[in-house]
Amino acid sequence: MGGRSQVLASRGHPSREINMADAPRTVLISGCSSGIGLELAVQLAHDHRQRYQVVATMRDLGKKGALEAAAGEALGQTLTVAQLDVCSDESVAQCLSCIQGGEVDVLVNNAGVGLVGPLEGLSLAAMQNVFDTNFFGAVRLVRAVLPGMKKRRKGHIVVVSSVMGLQGVVFNEVYAASKFALEGFFESLAVQLLQFNIFITLVEPGPVVTDFEGKLLEQVSEAEFPDTDPDTLHYFRDFYLPASRELFRSVGQSPQDVAQVVVKVISSPRPPLRRQTNARYTPLAALKAVDPSGSLYVRASHHLLFRWTRFLNLGLRCLACGCLRIRIWPR
Ligand code: NAD
Repeated sequence: MGGRSQVLASRGHPSREINMADAPRTVLISGCSSGIGLELAVQLAHDHRQRYQVVATMRDLGKKGALEAAAGEALGQTLTVAQLDVCSDESVAQCLSCIQGGEVDVLVNNAGVGLVGPLEGLSLAAMQNVFDTNFFGAVRLVRAVLPGMKKRRKGHIVVVSSVMGLQGVVFNEVYAASKFALEGFFESLAVQLLQFNIFITLVEPGPVVTDFEGKLLEQVSEAEFPDTDPDTLHYFRDFYLPASRELFRSVGQSPQDVAQVVVKVISSPRPPLRRQTNARYTPLAALKAVDPSGSLYVRASHHLLFRWTRFLNLGLRCLACGCLRIRIWPR
Protein backbone atom coordinates (compact mmCIF):
# COMPACT_ATOMS: atom_id res chain seq x y z
CA MET A 1 0.00 0.00 0.00
CA GLY A 2 1.28 3.45 -0.87
CA GLY A 3 2.96 5.53 1.81
CA ARG A 4 1.76 8.99 2.62
CA SER A 5 4.40 10.78 0.52
CA GLN A 6 3.76 8.43 -2.43
CA VAL A 7 0.06 9.18 -2.22
CA LEU A 8 0.61 12.91 -2.53
CA ALA A 9 3.26 12.54 -5.23
CA SER A 10 0.98 10.41 -7.34
CA ARG A 11 -1.60 13.18 -7.32
CA GLY A 12 0.66 15.67 -9.04
CA HIS A 13 2.28 17.35 -6.03
CA PRO A 14 5.81 15.97 -6.42
CA SER A 15 7.54 19.14 -5.29
CA ARG A 16 5.24 19.94 -2.40
CA GLU A 17 6.94 19.66 0.95
CA ILE A 18 4.88 17.36 3.08
CA ASN A 19 3.86 18.64 6.46
CA MET A 20 2.90 15.54 8.45
CA ALA A 21 -0.01 17.45 9.99
CA ASP A 22 -1.43 17.71 6.42
CA ALA A 23 -0.64 14.13 5.46
CA PRO A 24 -3.67 12.03 4.59
CA ARG A 25 -5.07 9.97 7.43
CA THR A 26 -5.18 6.22 6.87
CA VAL A 27 -8.77 5.01 7.30
CA LEU A 28 -9.38 1.26 7.60
CA ILE A 29 -13.00 0.20 7.02
CA SER A 30 -14.40 -3.31 7.46
CA GLY A 31 -17.22 -4.76 5.33
CA CYS A 32 -16.82 -2.66 2.15
CA SER A 33 -18.22 -5.06 -0.46
CA SER A 34 -21.68 -3.48 -0.15
CA GLY A 35 -23.93 -1.00 1.63
CA ILE A 36 -22.69 1.61 4.08
CA GLY A 37 -19.06 0.40 4.04
CA LEU A 38 -18.81 0.63 0.25
CA GLU A 39 -20.40 4.07 0.16
CA LEU A 40 -18.23 5.39 2.99
CA ALA A 41 -15.03 4.11 1.39
CA VAL A 42 -15.91 5.82 -1.90
CA GLN A 43 -16.95 9.14 -0.32
CA LEU A 44 -13.74 9.34 1.74
CA ALA A 45 -11.57 8.37 -1.23
CA HIS A 46 -13.20 11.14 -3.30
CA ASP A 47 -12.66 13.80 -0.63
CA HIS A 48 -11.85 16.94 -2.60
CA ARG A 49 -9.13 17.92 -0.09
CA GLN A 50 -7.61 14.43 -0.35
CA ARG A 51 -7.46 14.09 3.42
CA TYR A 52 -7.80 10.30 3.47
CA GLN A 53 -5.97 7.19 2.33
CA VAL A 54 -8.69 4.54 2.47
CA VAL A 55 -8.03 0.85 3.08
CA ALA A 56 -11.38 -0.62 2.05
CA THR A 57 -11.54 -4.19 3.31
CA MET A 58 -13.86 -7.11 2.70
CA ARG A 59 -14.02 -10.77 3.66
CA ASP A 60 -14.35 -12.04 0.07
CA LEU A 61 -12.24 -10.23 -2.54
CA GLY A 62 -14.34 -11.94 -5.22
CA LYS A 63 -16.96 -9.30 -4.38
CA LYS A 64 -14.74 -6.25 -4.97
CA GLY A 65 -16.22 -5.41 -8.41
CA ALA A 66 -18.93 -3.00 -7.19
CA LEU A 67 -16.50 -1.12 -4.93
CA GLU A 68 -13.85 -0.81 -7.63
CA ALA A 69 -16.41 0.43 -10.15
CA ALA A 70 -17.71 3.04 -7.67
CA ALA A 71 -14.19 4.10 -6.67
CA GLY A 72 -13.25 4.90 -10.29
CA GLU A 73 -10.06 6.95 -10.54
CA ALA A 74 -9.53 6.83 -6.78
CA LEU A 75 -8.65 3.14 -7.04
CA GLY A 76 -4.94 2.67 -6.40
CA GLN A 77 -4.62 6.36 -5.53
CA THR A 78 -6.64 7.20 -2.42
CA LEU A 79 -8.35 3.82 -2.12
CA THR A 80 -6.85 0.35 -1.79
CA VAL A 81 -8.85 -2.85 -1.48
CA ALA A 82 -7.69 -5.51 1.01
CA GLN A 83 -8.95 -8.81 2.37
CA LEU A 84 -10.19 -8.83 5.97
CA ASP A 85 -12.42 -11.26 7.82
CA VAL A 86 -13.23 -9.67 11.16
CA CYS A 87 -13.78 -13.15 12.65
CA SER A 88 -10.17 -14.23 12.03
CA ASP A 89 -7.06 -13.18 14.00
CA GLU A 90 -4.82 -14.26 11.09
CA SER A 91 -6.77 -12.22 8.57
CA VAL A 92 -6.59 -9.10 10.77
CA ALA A 93 -2.83 -9.52 11.31
CA GLN A 94 -2.25 -10.11 7.58
CA CYS A 95 -4.26 -7.04 6.62
CA LEU A 96 -2.47 -4.73 9.08
CA SER A 97 0.93 -6.04 7.99
CA CYS A 98 0.21 -4.67 4.50
CA ILE A 99 -0.34 -1.12 5.78
CA GLN A 100 2.84 0.90 5.91
CA GLY A 101 4.02 1.02 9.53
CA GLY A 102 0.74 -0.71 10.48
CA GLU A 103 -0.50 2.82 11.15
CA VAL A 104 -4.26 3.20 11.16
CA ASP A 105 -5.44 6.71 12.05
CA VAL A 106 -9.15 6.01 11.77
CA LEU A 107 -10.73 2.58 12.20
CA VAL A 108 -14.33 2.11 11.06
CA ASN A 109 -15.95 -1.06 12.42
CA ASN A 110 -18.71 -1.44 9.89
CA ALA A 111 -18.93 -5.19 9.14
CA GLY A 112 -22.08 -6.71 10.57
CA VAL A 113 -24.71 -9.38 10.17
CA GLY A 114 -28.36 -9.44 11.18
CA LEU A 115 -30.58 -12.13 12.66
CA VAL A 116 -34.32 -11.91 12.85
CA GLY A 117 -37.05 -14.34 13.84
CA PRO A 118 -38.70 -16.06 16.79
CA LEU A 119 -36.07 -16.94 19.38
CA GLU A 120 -37.20 -20.56 19.72
CA GLY A 121 -36.57 -21.16 16.02
CA LEU A 122 -33.01 -19.78 15.87
CA SER A 123 -29.94 -21.92 16.49
CA LEU A 124 -27.37 -20.97 19.12
CA ALA A 125 -24.72 -21.24 16.37
CA ALA A 126 -26.51 -18.50 14.38
CA MET A 127 -26.69 -16.33 17.51
CA GLN A 128 -23.00 -16.87 18.26
CA ASN A 129 -22.13 -15.89 14.69
CA VAL A 130 -23.89 -12.55 15.23
CA PHE A 131 -21.79 -11.87 18.33
CA ASP A 132 -18.58 -13.16 16.69
CA THR A 133 -19.05 -10.74 13.80
CA ASN A 134 -20.78 -7.67 15.27
CA PHE A 135 -19.17 -7.61 18.71
CA PHE A 136 -15.98 -9.70 18.81
CA GLY A 137 -15.14 -8.67 15.22
CA ALA A 138 -15.01 -5.03 16.34
CA VAL A 139 -13.14 -5.91 19.55
CA ARG A 140 -10.56 -7.92 17.56
CA LEU A 141 -9.84 -4.99 15.23
CA VAL A 142 -9.64 -2.47 18.05
CA ARG A 143 -7.15 -4.61 19.98
CA ALA A 144 -5.01 -4.78 16.84
CA VAL A 145 -4.88 -1.03 16.09
CA LEU A 146 -4.95 0.34 19.64
CA PRO A 147 -1.25 -0.12 20.57
CA GLY A 148 -0.22 1.97 17.51
CA MET A 149 -2.80 4.65 18.22
CA LYS A 150 -1.74 4.83 21.87
CA LYS A 151 1.93 5.13 20.90
CA ARG A 152 1.15 7.97 18.48
CA ARG A 153 -1.28 9.52 20.98
CA LYS A 154 -3.97 10.01 18.38
CA GLY A 155 -6.71 8.11 16.63
CA HIS A 156 -10.41 7.76 16.03
CA ILE A 157 -12.47 4.58 16.29
CA VAL A 158 -15.87 4.70 14.61
CA VAL A 159 -18.37 1.93 15.23
CA VAL A 160 -21.44 1.43 13.06
CA SER A 161 -23.90 0.55 15.81
CA SER A 162 -27.66 0.99 15.35
CA VAL A 163 -30.69 2.52 17.04
CA MET A 164 -31.10 -1.13 18.08
CA GLY A 165 -28.03 -0.55 20.27
CA LEU A 166 -30.19 1.90 22.24
CA GLN A 167 -33.59 0.21 22.25
CA GLY A 168 -34.66 -3.41 21.82
CA VAL A 169 -36.82 -4.34 18.84
CA VAL A 170 -39.19 -7.32 18.80
CA PHE A 171 -37.90 -10.42 16.93
CA ASN A 172 -34.42 -8.81 16.72
CA GLU A 173 -33.35 -9.81 20.25
CA VAL A 174 -29.91 -11.21 19.41
CA TYR A 175 -28.97 -8.54 16.87
CA ALA A 176 -30.04 -5.79 19.30
CA ALA A 177 -28.06 -7.50 22.09
CA SER A 178 -24.91 -7.47 19.92
CA LYS A 179 -25.34 -3.73 19.30
CA PHE A 180 -26.09 -3.06 23.02
CA ALA A 181 -22.84 -4.92 23.76
CA LEU A 182 -20.95 -2.60 21.40
CA GLU A 183 -22.48 0.46 23.03
CA GLY A 184 -21.45 -0.63 26.53
CA PHE A 185 -17.99 -1.73 25.46
CA PHE A 186 -17.09 1.41 23.53
CA GLU A 187 -18.67 3.86 26.00
CA SER A 188 -16.50 2.27 28.71
CA LEU A 189 -13.36 2.31 26.56
CA ALA A 190 -13.93 5.95 25.53
CA VAL A 191 -13.15 7.15 29.06
CA GLN A 192 -9.66 5.57 29.12
CA LEU A 193 -8.84 6.53 25.55
CA LEU A 194 -9.35 10.25 26.07
CA GLN A 195 -6.10 10.05 28.07
CA PHE A 196 -4.42 9.09 24.78
CA ASN A 197 -6.24 11.65 22.61
CA ILE A 198 -8.14 8.80 20.93
CA PHE A 199 -11.82 9.39 20.18
CA ILE A 200 -14.65 6.89 19.85
CA THR A 201 -17.89 7.47 17.95
CA LEU A 202 -20.89 5.15 17.91
CA VAL A 203 -22.92 5.88 14.76
CA GLU A 204 -26.54 4.80 15.21
CA PRO A 205 -28.53 4.49 11.98
CA GLY A 206 -32.22 3.60 11.94
CA PRO A 207 -33.40 1.44 9.01
CA VAL A 208 -31.06 1.69 6.00
CA VAL A 209 -32.02 0.34 2.61
CA THR A 210 -29.09 -1.97 1.82
CA ASP A 211 -28.51 -5.67 1.10
CA PHE A 212 -28.78 -6.14 4.85
CA GLU A 213 -32.58 -6.03 4.88
CA GLY A 214 -32.84 -7.95 1.57
CA LYS A 215 -30.61 -10.76 2.88
CA LEU A 216 -32.57 -10.94 6.11
CA LEU A 217 -35.95 -11.13 4.39
CA GLU A 218 -34.60 -13.83 2.07
CA GLN A 219 -33.27 -15.73 5.11
CA VAL A 220 -36.61 -15.38 6.86
CA SER A 221 -38.71 -16.49 3.89
CA GLU A 222 -36.64 -19.68 3.58
CA ALA A 223 -36.46 -20.41 7.30
CA GLU A 224 -38.90 -22.76 8.95
CA PHE A 225 -38.29 -21.77 12.58
CA PRO A 226 -38.67 -25.24 14.08
CA ASP A 227 -39.89 -25.48 17.69
CA THR A 228 -41.86 -22.26 17.37
CA ASP A 229 -45.52 -22.33 18.39
CA PRO A 230 -48.15 -21.30 15.80
CA ASP A 231 -49.18 -18.12 17.67
CA THR A 232 -45.62 -16.77 17.74
CA LEU A 233 -45.14 -17.64 14.06
CA HIS A 234 -48.39 -15.82 13.27
CA TYR A 235 -47.25 -12.70 15.18
CA PHE A 236 -43.90 -12.81 13.40
CA ARG A 237 -45.19 -13.39 9.85
CA ASP A 238 -48.44 -11.44 9.91
CA PHE A 239 -47.61 -8.55 12.24
CA TYR A 240 -43.85 -8.03 12.49
CA LEU A 241 -42.79 -8.66 8.88
CA PRO A 242 -45.34 -6.31 7.23
CA ALA A 243 -44.58 -3.61 9.84
CA SER A 244 -40.86 -4.01 9.24
CA ARG A 245 -41.29 -3.67 5.46
CA GLU A 246 -43.38 -0.53 6.00
CA LEU A 247 -40.75 0.91 8.35
CA PHE A 248 -38.00 0.49 5.75
CA ARG A 249 -40.28 1.85 3.00
CA SER A 250 -41.28 4.92 4.96
CA VAL A 251 -38.29 6.03 7.03
CA GLY A 252 -35.45 3.95 5.51
CA GLN A 253 -32.31 5.97 4.72
CA SER A 254 -29.94 5.44 1.82
CA PRO A 255 -26.41 4.16 2.56
CA GLN A 256 -25.14 7.37 0.92
CA ASP A 257 -26.90 9.48 3.57
CA VAL A 258 -25.49 7.39 6.41
CA ALA A 259 -22.00 7.54 4.89
CA GLN A 260 -22.25 11.34 4.69
CA VAL A 261 -22.90 11.49 8.43
CA VAL A 262 -19.88 9.25 9.09
CA VAL A 263 -17.67 11.42 6.84
CA LYS A 264 -18.68 14.49 8.90
CA VAL A 265 -17.91 12.64 12.13
CA ILE A 266 -14.48 11.57 10.86
CA SER A 267 -13.60 15.12 9.78
CA SER A 268 -14.64 16.63 13.09
CA PRO A 269 -11.80 17.83 15.35
CA ARG A 270 -13.78 16.74 18.45
CA PRO A 271 -15.95 13.82 17.37
CA PRO A 272 -19.03 13.03 19.51
CA LEU A 273 -19.44 9.71 21.36
CA ARG A 274 -22.84 9.11 19.73
CA ARG A 275 -24.37 10.21 16.46
CA GLN A 276 -27.80 9.15 15.21
CA THR A 277 -28.21 9.48 11.47
CA ASN A 278 -31.95 9.56 10.81
CA ALA A 279 -34.05 12.49 12.02
CA ARG A 280 -37.25 10.74 10.86
CA TYR A 281 -36.59 7.93 13.33
CA THR A 282 -36.16 10.26 16.32
CA PRO A 283 -39.78 10.11 17.56
CA LEU A 284 -39.48 6.32 17.83
CA ALA A 285 -36.15 6.54 19.66
CA ALA A 286 -37.57 9.24 21.97
CA LEU A 287 -40.17 6.82 23.38
CA LYS A 288 -37.44 5.22 25.46
CA ALA A 289 -35.69 8.43 26.45
CA VAL A 290 -38.77 10.11 27.96
CA ASP A 291 -39.54 7.28 30.40
CA PRO A 292 -36.49 5.88 32.22
CA SER A 293 -38.58 2.98 33.61
CA GLY A 294 -38.81 1.60 30.07
CA SER A 295 -42.52 0.81 30.39
CA LEU A 296 -43.67 3.48 27.94
CA TYR A 297 -41.43 2.15 25.19
CA VAL A 298 -42.35 -1.50 25.70
CA ARG A 299 -46.10 -0.86 26.01
CA ALA A 300 -46.26 1.63 23.13
CA SER A 301 -44.29 -0.75 20.85
CA HIS A 302 -46.56 -3.61 21.85
CA HIS A 303 -49.76 -1.67 21.23
CA LEU A 304 -48.55 -0.18 17.95
CA LEU A 305 -47.50 -3.57 16.57
CA PHE A 306 -50.29 -5.83 17.80
CA ARG A 307 -53.28 -3.59 18.53
CA TRP A 308 -53.07 -0.34 16.59
CA THR A 309 -51.55 -1.57 13.33
CA ARG A 310 -53.40 1.01 11.22
CA PHE A 311 -52.25 3.81 13.50
CA LEU A 312 -48.66 2.53 13.21
CA ASN A 313 -48.85 2.59 9.40
CA LEU A 314 -50.39 6.06 9.42
CA GLY A 315 -47.71 7.29 11.84
CA LEU A 316 -44.93 5.87 9.68
CA ARG A 317 -46.35 7.60 6.61
CA CYS A 318 -46.47 10.90 8.54
CA LEU A 319 -42.84 10.44 9.53
CA ALA A 320 -41.98 9.70 5.89
CA CYS A 321 -43.62 12.89 4.63
CA GLY A 322 -41.73 14.91 7.22
CA CYS A 323 -44.73 16.45 9.02
CA LEU A 324 -43.49 15.11 12.39
CA ARG A 325 -39.86 15.71 11.55
CA ILE A 326 -37.66 16.74 14.44
CA ARG A 327 -34.12 17.86 13.81
CA ILE A 328 -31.63 15.98 15.92
CA TRP A 329 -28.40 17.60 14.88
CA PRO A 330 -27.49 21.06 13.69
CA ARG A 331 -26.77 21.21 9.97
P1 NAD B 1 -24.47 -4.91 4.21
O1 NAD B 1 -24.93 -6.31 4.37
O2 NAD B 1 -24.50 -4.30 2.87
O3 NAD B 1 -23.01 -4.72 4.81
C1 NAD B 1 -22.47 -5.53 5.82
C2 NAD B 1 -21.07 -5.91 5.38
O4 NAD B 1 -20.41 -6.65 6.40
C3 NAD B 1 -21.12 -6.80 4.12
O5 NAD B 1 -20.24 -6.26 3.16
C4 NAD B 1 -20.64 -8.14 4.64
O6 NAD B 1 -19.97 -8.90 3.67
C5 NAD B 1 -19.72 -7.69 5.77
N1 NAD B 1 -19.38 -8.78 6.68
C6 NAD B 1 -20.18 -9.68 7.29
N2 NAD B 1 -19.44 -10.55 8.01
C7 NAD B 1 -18.14 -10.18 7.85
C8 NAD B 1 -16.89 -10.69 8.34
N3 NAD B 1 -16.84 -11.77 9.13
N4 NAD B 1 -15.76 -10.04 7.98
C9 NAD B 1 -15.80 -8.96 7.19
N5 NAD B 1 -16.93 -8.44 6.67
C10 NAD B 1 -18.09 -9.07 7.01
O7 NAD B 1 -25.39 -4.04 5.20
P2 NAD B 1 -25.20 -2.56 5.78
O8 NAD B 1 -26.56 -2.08 6.07
O9 NAD B 1 -24.31 -1.72 4.93
O10 NAD B 1 -24.49 -2.87 7.19
C11 NAD B 1 -23.34 -2.20 7.63
C12 NAD B 1 -23.44 -1.98 9.14
O11 NAD B 1 -24.55 -1.14 9.39
C13 NAD B 1 -23.66 -3.26 9.95
O12 NAD B 1 -22.84 -3.23 11.10
C14 NAD B 1 -25.13 -3.17 10.35
O13 NAD B 1 -25.37 -3.84 11.58
C15 NAD B 1 -25.29 -1.67 10.48
N6 NAD B 1 -26.67 -1.19 10.40
C16 NAD B 1 -27.45 -1.51 9.31
C17 NAD B 1 -28.77 -1.05 9.28
C18 NAD B 1 -29.69 -1.40 8.13
O14 NAD B 1 -30.91 -1.24 8.29
N7 NAD B 1 -29.19 -1.81 6.98
C19 NAD B 1 -29.26 -0.27 10.31
C20 NAD B 1 -28.42 0.06 11.39
C21 NAD B 1 -27.13 -0.41 11.41
